[in-house]
Amino acid sequence: METKDLLEKIKYCNSLTAYSRRKTIPVKVGDVIIGGDNPIVVQSMTTVDTMDTLGSVEQCIRMIESGCQLIRITAPSIKEAENLKNIKDELRKRGYNTPLVADIHFTPNAAEIAAKIVEKVRINPGNYADKKKFEFLEYTDQSYQEELERIRERFLPLVRICKKHGTAMRIGTNHGSLSDRIMSRYGDTPLGMVESALEFLRICEEENYHDVVISMKSSNTQVMVQAYRLLVQKLEEGGFKPYPLHLGVTEAGDGEDGRIKSAVGIGTLLEDGLGDTVRVSLTEDPEFETPVAKALVDRYENRTGHALIPDVVHYPVNPFEYNRRDTIEVFNFGGTNVPRVIADISAVENITEKEMKQVGHFYLPELDKWKMNDLGADYVFSGSNPIPFMLPNGMKEIQHYAVWLYTEDKVNKFPALSLEEFRKAENLHYGLNFLMVSDQEIKEALPLLEGRKDVVVILHSDNLHNMPALRRAFFELMENHSIVPVVARVNYAKQDQDKTMLYAATDVGGLLIEGLGEGIMIGIGAYRESPRTEILDQIKLHNSVSFGVLQAARTRMSKTEYISCPSCGRTLFDLQETTAMIRKRTDHLKGVKIGIMGCIVNGPGEMADADYGYVGSGKGKITLYKGKEVVKKSVASEKAVDELIEIIRKDGMWIEPEA
Ligand code: SF4
Repeated sequence: METKDLLEKIKYCNSLTAYSRRKTIPVKVGDVIIGGDNPIVVQSMTTVDTMDTLGSVEQCIRMIESGCQLIRITAPSIKEAENLKNIKDELRKRGYNTPLVADIHFTPNAAEIAAKIVEKVRINPGNYADKKKFEFLEYTDQSYQEELERIRERFLPLVRICKKHGTAMRIGTNHGSLSDRIMSRYGDTPLGMVESALEFLRICEEENYHDVVISMKSSNTQVMVQAYRLLVQKLEEGGFKPYPLHLGVTEAGDGEDGRIKSAVGIGTLLEDGLGDTVRVSLTEDPEFETPVAKALVDRYENRTGHALIPDVVHYPVNPFEYNRRDTIEVFNFGGTNVPRVIADISAVENITEKEMKQVGHFYLPELDKWKMNDLGADYVFSGSNPIPFMLPNGMKEIQHYAVWLYTEDKVNKFPALSLEEFRKAENLHYGLNFLMVSDQEIKEALPLLEGRKDVVVILHSDNLHNMPALRRAFFELMENHSIVPVVARVNYAKQDQDKTMLYAATDVGGLLIEGLGEGIMIGIGAYRESPRTEILDQIKLHNSVSFGVLQAARTRMSKTEYISCPSCGRTLFDLQETTAMIRKRTDHLKGVKIGIMGCIVNGPGEMADADYGYVGSGKGKITLYKGKEVVKKSVASEKAVDELIEIIRKDGMWIEPEA
């Protein structure tokens, strides 16, 4: 499709350059309204057994006190669905009116009971009317139609109950649990996810039932973003009502990785103006999820007044599939190289060998040697504070042009120039020069970049609408057929660690998801005048966040990826403890994806594209997977991690951790 045509056909967001929230229909969930002109709602899910009424109530209260506006509780069977009444009554008795949502997989009968008790029901279209057998089935148009009829019969009673009781519904598609029918016809794709929801939505519309919210979750951030965008596009094209969206990345994991992964997916869509309610899924207690979701959402409160970004005339990327922008290889940037990490150490005067550990390079004085871990920065930007010792092997330094001119080592040290300096420069590095420009200067820089094979652009923007401003500059380059590699540089005010990781993940992650960016640099900016220890802490954070963002956007794997579920009332073991234990033994397996799932009902499907899986299958029992294939069933939990390692070893993917 011609890019101009594509732009005309883009209906998934109001604007690619001006922040504008998509207008949706309001859906009432008890006292909370999702969509319309209402603020984005923050929600979370309990992890306590639903049959433990008081435990659930107390956890709900902790969640409410952390800012949670909507609480989801699993209802795996009729007895849990019935117990939602006790939980709700107790909460109301204690003065809490927060609406409750029943989470349903496989059990229409539980859904029909829950819909009479709570304010909203979540169904998974992949398993509401289907049992997953991981089978590929051939369908004729007629047999497919018959299948749809069967779904209709199963689903209609719930729609009618919801309509009668004023209960809202979420049609919540998960990438990992698409039905065999959808998989057979559309494959494991964003289009399959969208179709999976639309099959159910059409039935709701036929019944004139519109209290529907839709989600398209995946633990793969690229798939997740594409699926939401495609959903909106299809809703618009298909003449559906603009239903509100519930945003989330499934099985994001815990700690920094979980936060970054969530922000890459959720943040990118919030930048598009999409999303009416958000749930961040972390393998942590649910009261820790809400502040993260709030930090993501609050960023858009005052976004509309941002500086003007020129309109996009030609849209050179396809927002529904991943394609990396074509670039020339300059040194080890661009071409087929992984995106590079540049650590900004320019605020540290006379940095010592020991302090280089902040960027993953360790000096061993007894051996007078350097060692690098998996998060060893590729380049450091020292600005006007050159490194006063011999660089570690494999590390390169970027200096301000005026400093570089007098530097002896012109093999490992490279100049960074402003546009003005670049225009006048007579002496440049023979192979690699960094041109530091803003989005506003990119047009001016274009003629200077023409035909050059020795320049990498470091691009930044002061625009509040940062990601779209940077993206617009990339489009300018693409429109003018410039294939120069570009590193995205972002800078943030002093703030807590969570915000730094969430903002960087949104701004740079959003670009990477669209195939834009050959590197990342988080500027030290606001910390320049801070005490040395604070600057060093910040450098360490920026370095690990940089690698985390590249990994979360699936553009560079530098560590083991854990696809761990947040746990819920179905969970059969202590997920947080188990995840920590597995992480301790396997976190040196760079690039390997390990799924850690609380239950056998949803776990195998939900862990999506994990290489290995550790799934609770009964009290104290674990089932181990290689991909989607069961390798060992009912392993005693005390032995399960050893057995998992044995499977990885037999598969040839194990390496011994270094002492
Ligand atoms: S996979 Fe985890 S979060 Fe999902 S239903 Fe099972 S235990 Fe609950």
